[in-house]
Amino acid sequence: MTLNREIILDTLRSVTDPATGRDIVASGFVTGVTIRGDQVGFVLEVDPAAGRTKEPLREAAERAVRALPGVAGVTVVMTAERPSEAARSGTSPSSGHGGHGAPSQEPSGIAQVGRIIAVASGKGGVGKSTVAANLALGLAHLGLDVGLLDADIYGPSVPKLLGLNKKPETDGKKLRPLEAFGIKAMSIGLLVEESAAMIWRGPMATSALMQMMTDVAWGPLDVLVLDMPPGTGDIQLTLAQRTPLAGAVVVSTPQDLALIDARKAVTMFQKVSVPILGVVENMSTFVCPSCGSTSHIFGHGGARDAASEIGVPFLGEIPLTMQVRECSDTGHPVVVCNPSSTAGGAFLAIADEVAAGFETVRQKPMPAIHIVD
Ligand code: ADP
Repeated sequence: MTLNREIILDTLRSVTDPATGRDIVASGFVTGVTIRGDQVGFVLEVDPAAGRTKEPLREAAERAVRALPGVAGVTVVMTAERPSEAARSGTSPSSGHGGHGAPSQEPSGIAQVGRIIAVASGKGGVGKSTVAANLALGLAHLGLDVGLLDADIYGPSVPKLLGLNKKPETDGKKLRPLEAFGIKAMSIGLLVEESAAMIWRGPMATSALMQMMTDVAWGPLDVLVLDMPPGTGDIQLTLAQRTPLAGAVVVSTPQDLALIDARKAVTMFQKVSVPILGVVENMSTFVCPSCGSTSHIFGHGGARDAASEIGVPFLGEIPLTMQVRECSDTGHPVVVCNPSSTAGGAFLAIADEVAAGFETVRQKPMPAIHIVD
């Protein structure tokens, strides 16, 4: 029997939600069925107000599909992005950004995360992690509950950027994220030796990264910022495909060579239908610390032009300054260390732009896992 979407949906019709007596397909919970060989994935989009109470449904759905002949692995991502019945009929008090839903006794991975956004780059060294950390802190500055997940297996820098060095503890089931400057954070660098993660091959890296997302007790978050591994290879593509991403921010430096790679990153996300929230030009203008004069070491404006050419938003420019690097090195990103500096202000303005973009991406269902069959 060749697996296809109909077979999966038929099987899932055998799983009934005891709360309503209706099956989970008829209830509209199942989205984004993917079939890749013998691996099946889908998303259960449940009412945020129901929170953790729907966990048994996730387990039942996973069991049902796993029992199908020809299925070797099943990934079920449960999201609580669906507006509640009350919210849909306009009778609920606003739950604010991200739809936290009712407090859950046992937060489950990404179930309470409003949206996940990726920060990516076509290649390493362009300041992707610096942007991810400052963006996360800038979003927190706007009053959002924010998490930062460092998935950069090639150079996890979030522990250094946020001054974190404690091993994360577990509550028996899930890892507790660490906290810094009001945001929650988890990094592959806190869990394994850097040299171990670097040699992971595609499937190992992807499953470790997926686990970091689901096996961390993030609790209610408006947004989880995912610092992606640099580049556009298999690991990045699979991660972009299998993570329920609400959008992606692509970081580039202005020179032509970097922009070629940034375009590839934009194309990668577009291929898997992840909306591009915008492009950031980092190391845009160099401000001489002694004389204050500006120069454009890597050129200037290339990312803005490339964004307009590709038809994606341009989010802003971050200058190349000693302070950005020095603040990062002391574990206090510039948004914390000097928010009123040019670079600090630029990051805060970018966070504003990104948050404004959420309103657009929130109108669409989370792209989640994408239909490929
Ligand atoms: P990536 O994640 O793309 O590999 P990082 O964020 O780790 O890049 O940045 C690489 C190096 O460049 C770090 O030392 C960082 O402090 C520095 N850096 C990044 N952006 C800037 C900037 N705008 N000004 C000065 N230094 C920067």
